[in-house]
Amino acid sequence: MSAPPVGAADGIPPGIDIPFNRPSLVGDELRYMSEAIAAGRISGDGDFSRRCHELLERELGAPRVLLTTSCTHALEMCSLLLDLAPGDEVIVPSFTFVSTANAFALRGARPVFADVRPDTLNLDESLLPDLIGPRTRAIVAVHYAGVGCEMAAILALAGRHGLAVVEDNAHGLFGKHGGTKLGTFGGLATLSFHETKNVTCGEGGALIVNDARYLERAETVRQKGTNRSQFFRGMVDKYSWVDLGSSYLPSDMLAAFLLAQLEARDRIQAARRRLWQRYEQELASWAAANGARLPVVPPGCEQPFHLFYLLLPSLAARQALIAHLRGHGILAAFHYVPLHLSAYGRQAAARWRDCPVAADVADRLVRLPLFYDLSAADQSRVIAAVQAFQP
Ligand SMILES: *Cc1c(COP(=O)(O)O)cnc(C)c1O
Repeated sequence: MSAPPVGAADGIPPGIDIPFNRPSLVGDELRYMSEAIAAGRISGDGDFSRRCHELLERELGAPRVLLTTSCTHALEMCSLLLDLAPGDEVIVPSFTFVSTANAFALRGARPVFADVRPDTLNLDESLLPDLIGPRTRAIVAVHYAGVGCEMAAILALAGRHGLAVVEDNAHGLFGKHGGTKLGTFGGLATLSFHETKNVTCGEGGALIVNDARYLERAETVRQKGTNRSQFFRGMVDKYSWVDLGSSYLPSDMLAAFLLAQLEARDRIQAARRRLWQRYEQELASWAAANGARLPVVPPGCEQPFHLFYLLLPSLAARQALIAHLRGHGILAAFHYVPLHLSAYGRQAAARWRDCPVAADVADRLVRLPLFYDLSAADQSRVIAAVQAFQP
C-alpha cells in the first residue's frame, strides 16, 4: 500500500495543482509513532530520540547531536551556550532566514550584517575583516542551499580573533565542503527538520556540538537549566536548577516520525538529486538565452539538493515568472527579505551598512517546486512552463 502524502490538500492556494513543497511519508513514520504511543513514552528524550541522536552522530561523525523543537531553538541554545550579553556583536549574513539573527538578538547581542557572495549567495568571507570589532563574539555561517561556505577562511579568521563559529546548517544536512561534512566545522551547528527541509518531522531541529567545551552545558540548557540528563545517567542523586535554560526537547512522537525519515535518507536524497539535476540540465539553455542564471556549486562542494533557484534579470521579470507559473497551476516561491533591510534588522544592527548583493539577489531569485514525490510528469510541466516564459 502506498502512503498518502501528508497534508496534500493543506495550504495550497486555489488553482494550484503543483505545490511549492509537499511533505511525504517515506517509510516507517506512522508505525514508529504508534510504537512510541504504545510504549507509553511520548515526552522528550525517549527511545526514538536516542535513536535519532545516534544515527546523526554516526552519520556526521560529531561527538554529540541533540534533537530540538526547531532550528530556531537550536540557534537560541547556541546564544545561551556562548553566554552572549547586551553589547556583544554577532556577524550574520543578511541573506538568510530571520532566526539566524533573532536567536542572538534575544540575548541582547546585536547583529552585524554581512553581504553575500554573488556566486553561492553565502556570507562573503572577504568582508569579514572589516566587520570584526572589539565587541564581536561570533560568526554565524549559513550554508545557503547546502553549498558550503568558505569555512577554512572563516575558521582561520575566527581563530585569530578568538571568535566562536556557529553553522546554521538548516539547508545543509548531508552536504560536504572539501570532503568535510557541513555542520562539523563550527564549535556549534544547527539543523532544521521543518516541513520545507529535506528530512522533516513538521517542526524540529537539532544542535550539533562539535566543541567538547559545550557538551555538558548543552544538555543543561536543553533541559530547562537543570542537570536532569546527568541525573538519568546516575551521575548526581537529584536534579535541580543549575544554569539558564529552556525546554528545547521535542516529543518522542516527533522523534519517531523523524527517525523514519532519517532512515530513508538515501531514498530522499536520491529523489531530490534526480529532480535537481533534471532542472539544471533542462533549464540551462533557457537560462543562457534569457539572461537568467542557475545555482553555482563550486568544485569541492557536495550539495544536498535542498533547493533549486533561478536568478532572473530583474525584479519585474521574477514577479512575472511567478505569475506566469501560477497561471499554469504551479506555485514558485521567493525569499528572503534581506535582514539588513527588514524593519527590526535596521534598528537591531550594531552598525548598519548596505549589503547590495543580498538586496539584489533577494529581488531576482525564485525557487521552483522541489520535493520528494514531485512526479516526473509534474516536473515536466514546471520545466515546460519556465521554458515558455521570456522575461
Ligand atoms: C528553515 C531555516 C531556519 C529555521 O528553521 P526552523 O526549524 O523552522 O526553526 C533557520 N535558518 C535557515 C537558514 C533556515 O532555512
